[in-house]
Amino acid sequence: MDLDLKDKVIMIAAASQGIGYGIAEAAAREGARLSLCSRSREKIEQAAATLRDQFGVDARGYVCDAGDNNDIQGWAASTLKEFGGVQGLVVNAGGPPPGGFDSFDDADWNRAFNLTLMSAVRMIRGVLPGMRRQRHGSILTLTSSSIKEPIDNLLLSNVFRSGVVSLVKTLSNEVADYGIRVNNLVPGRIDTQRVQTVDAMNAEKKGITVQEQRQQQWHTIPLGRYGSIQDMGNAAVFLLSDAAAYITGATLVVDGGKTRAVF
Ligand code: NAD
Repeated sequence: MDLDLKDKVIMIAAASQGIGYGIAEAAAREGARLSLCSRSREKIEQAAATLRDQFGVDARGYVCDAGDNNDIQGWAASTLKEFGGVQGLVVNAGGPPPGGFDSFDDADWNRAFNLTLMSAVRMIRGVLPGMRRQRHGSILTLTSSSIKEPIDNLLLSNVFRSGVVSLVKTLSNEVADYGIRVNNLVPGRIDTQRVQTVDAMNAEKKGITVQEQRQQQWHTIPLGRYGSIQDMGNAAVFLLSDAAAYITGATLVVDGGKTRAVF
């Protein structure tokens, strides 16, 4: 299938590694032009350089903390100025800290609100006027399977990611007349550094090897393995492209069947 993403400009947040990088790689393979951000200049420039070398695409790195409004505005403004327009946006960031109800004070709640929910609002705000003018665009948020099955000890993530999905569904109605689609992508267990760190911690707690811990996790997934960042990238480029022209307000779960929910 030709996804027709060649030379389309796509902004991808938190893209120096992990799922964000996997989506950037899949978009680069399709020939898209990429505006990538993360907090570390060195890491994001390295990621952009790797994609330029490997795929011969125009990929540029920007410094932006997804929890900071000024950074987001700066990233969006630089992208519009340097690329001339944006056709796709992938909202992504690191997750808020783990913990239950008694773990957090108002400052923690506010930080998580900014990082997880307001980052989506602000990144979308950065691209929406241009997408409305061009009467075309695809916006994708990245959340978590916790929107279907809340995860123990991840209260902040559970609460604000559900907010992101409500934002996606409501906004998709508001902007459909402009030819703009808004969708949500849910990673199950994707084999990134973050998951490797969690596995190492849990293996130590249980007194088993990391490999044994991973195998225990695989048994909970019908397809019997963790997802790869390529699995996420493939789903993302489909939703970003006009191949998904009739899909908006949707949530696509990429979890090997792990989530036991009908909808
Ligand atoms: P990762 O740790 O491998 O990569 C995270 C990326 O985000 C890095 O590039 C990092 O530099 C960047 N980043 C972190 N905080 C940032 C910030 N404030 N501003 C800008 N960039 C920032 O993580 P991942 O596994 O790719 O996860 C990405 C997102 O998906 C996270 O929010 C995570 O909670 C969520 N998620 C991941 C999984 C999974 O299985 N990997 C499952 C559910 C949800």
